[in-house]
Amino acid sequence: MYTSLLVRYGEISLKGNNRPYFEDKLLDNMRRALADLPPHKMRKTFGRIFVELYDDLETVSRRLRRVFGIVSLSPVVTAPLELAAIKEKALAVLADTPGTTFKVQTQRPNKHFPLTSPQVNQELGAYLLSHSPKRRVDVHHPDCYIYVEIRDEGAYIFSRTIPGPGGLPVGVTGRGLLLISGGIDSPVAGYMGMKRGLELTALHFYSFPFTSERSKEKVLDLCRVLAGYGGPLRLVIAPFTNIQKAIRQYSPQEFYVTIMRRMMFRIAQAVAEQEGALALLTGESLGQVASQTLQSMAVINQVVDLPVLRPLVAWDKSEIIEVSRRIGTYDISIRPYEDCCTLFVPRHPATRPSLARVAAAEENLAVAELVKECLGNLEILAVEPEASM
Ligand code: ATP
Ligand code: MG
Repeated sequence: MYTSLLVRYGEISLKGNNRPYFEDKLLDNMRRALADLPPHKMRKTFGRIFVELYDDLETVSRRLRRVFGIVSLSPVVTAPLELAAIKEKALAVLADTPGTTFKVQTQRPNKHFPLTSPQVNQELGAYLLSHSPKRRVDVHHPDCYIYVEIRDEGAYIFSRTIPGPGGLPVGVTGRGLLLISGGIDSPVAGYMGMKRGLELTALHFYSFPFTSERSKEKVLDLCRVLAGYGGPLRLVIAPFTNIQKAIRQYSPQEFYVTIMRRMMFRIAQAVAEQEGALALLTGESLGQVASQTLQSMAVINQVVDLPVLRPLVAWDKSEIIEVSRRIGTYDISIRPYEDCCTLFVPRHPATRPSLARVAAAEENLAVAELVKECLGNLEILAVEPEASM
């Protein structure tokens, strides 16, 4: 019955001169989200986008609900500019809408249409009422609205509004490099970064054989979920075994984690440069663990010049878990495979590492050589969205 999907996008319309760029990006991303379906016609008008439907409302709306920048979606029925046709279509929309009481709400940008908006409301209300014996009109607190928009090219009728994810179209704010572990937090950080328009490259440090092939598969699966929101992405796997061995051998236990993170950041900065990423993203949240105190973050940050974005810095674990469940990463994140970091966490990590002492401890390590060796052995995987999405 529904002929198209009306797509509303909010924030992009506020961005002045950037608007056409943002809109084009949004359209590109919408097309990409539907790429494996027959091509859908999309039309941009009056700050909204209409997507013509085949018989695939559920699939198309499920896909578009993941496209950042979209505020909401409504399945709409179109009718020619004749009252009889509008009545008939409105009745079909009402039949498809739950609720006992309803209200018709008309907008009429097309001033050539012979009836005013209140007249259309009245005519339609009366017609719908007489053809649906179980329904009543309630103009103050209706269970549902039947919206009618009378435009130059025809009338649009709809009742349902499906929320979109909001945010900005992926790609409009640049590229970020997401440091992704197999944990709960970093995939959520990646999601939040994409929500603000970042295109991601993911980077995972992998310590085979301390961590198994399964843990790599887990990260790949997490990236597939992220790709379901932001489109295909690159996953860079960085071999970390030798670095961890060296840290274990040559540095004091209390600094294992701090030095490990500094090594990760050094490598991440080099990978970011290769990938054209302008920032690093992590899943850190202030105070969550020893390496996430302000003192630790400062000492870790000191090895890079790029901004480090921590979208979850002020989130409680319970809030992070809630989002990870909603976006579909939680069940993957809780698979029991060890992360390279969990294996190496000493019993008493320094919560306030001093930069001078950490730097001194690092002098026992061949930092530059280890970084270079790792960068020379990167594995790069192209990740596509999960097929079932
Ligand atoms: P997460 O749930 O994301 O693993 P966490 O609370 O377990 O986070 P840490 O293990 O201290 O925290 O890691 C902090 C951040 O460092 C992670 O959010 C992630 O961005 C990055 N990180 C940790 N381990 C790795 C790894 N093996 N590869 C890439 N990045 C990592
Ligand atoms: Mg972790």
